[in-house]
Amino acid sequence: RTVYVNGAYVPEEEATISVFDRGFLFADGVYEVTTVLSGKLIDFGPHMKRLARSLGELDMPSPASEEELLTIHRGLVTRNGLNEGLIYMQVTRGAADRDFMFPPKDTAPSLVLFTQAMVLRDKPAARTGIRIASVPDLRWARRDIKTVQLLYPSMAKMEAKSRGADDAWLVEDGIVTEGSSNNAHIVTADGTLITRDLSHSILHGITRAAVLKLAADDGVKVEERSFTLEEAKNASEAFVTSASTFVMPVVEIDGQPVGTGTPGPIARRLREIYLAEADRSAI
Ligand code: PLP
Repeated sequence: RTVYVNGAYVPEEEATISVFDRGFLFADGVYEVTTVLSGKLIDFGPHMKRLARSLGELDMPSPASEEELLTIHRGLVTRNGLNEGLIYMQVTRGAADRDFMFPPKDTAPSLVLFTQAMVLRDKPAARTGIRIASVPDLRWARRDIKTVQLLYPSMAKMEAKSRGADDAWLVEDGIVTEGSSNNAHIVTADGTLITRDLSHSILHGITRAAVLKLAADDGVKVEERSFTLEEAKNASEAFVTSASTFVMPVVEIDGQPVGTGTPGPIARRLREIYLAEADRSAI
């Protein structure tokens, strides 16, 4: 695989980053994951806008313009012959003497990108649905910034797996915040889609935004508000959204079937229309 590190395309074995990189020492970095379908980028513009916001919130300089980042994304797709999978992009505050103070403003940020070929569109889990275990949300209070501090979400997913589930939903004061790496949604008996409103408590998912718009255009009533774990367990349907899973039905929460215990019609329809729109608008 060819990867991109600070201005150069290199074989992955030759890519290097300083041991003093603040991403490595302080998790002082942000990232984006953009999906590739049929060799094209999905929702690229919104991902780059969120990257700019994450950088701004952390007072971190941008390593490249959106246009340059597009060129690099496409450069990796071409070099790796990527048809379907992900492009991971990480920006850190760069290498500096280890100090809790941020380094001088002229410190060069580090920019790393790599690709991961994966089956996404025809993932078997989309047909069977996934099982969720609830785990306390013990992350920091600025989850709207897409930082590389992923230790707790990783622990939460391990905990879910150890309980026989596929993924975790993070819960705070009885309320579902989001999944370990996705946004959480439920559908009530009258067909209303309920999803947590945007705040510092959750990541402002690009797929969440796209799916909510498509749902509303399709005549689904959408309510952006908090919902409890109990409400989710008693919902007619549940699903998660993310760049890599699109719309993924949830069929079980803490061992209790959601609705009929099979992927719901609204989740299945939203997956279909999301993928159709993704194909249409891919660049
Ligand atoms: N929430 C969290 C915590 C995430 O890590 C992610 C994606 O990685 C999402 C939600 C979904 O965001 P997106 O749809 O932009 O991939």
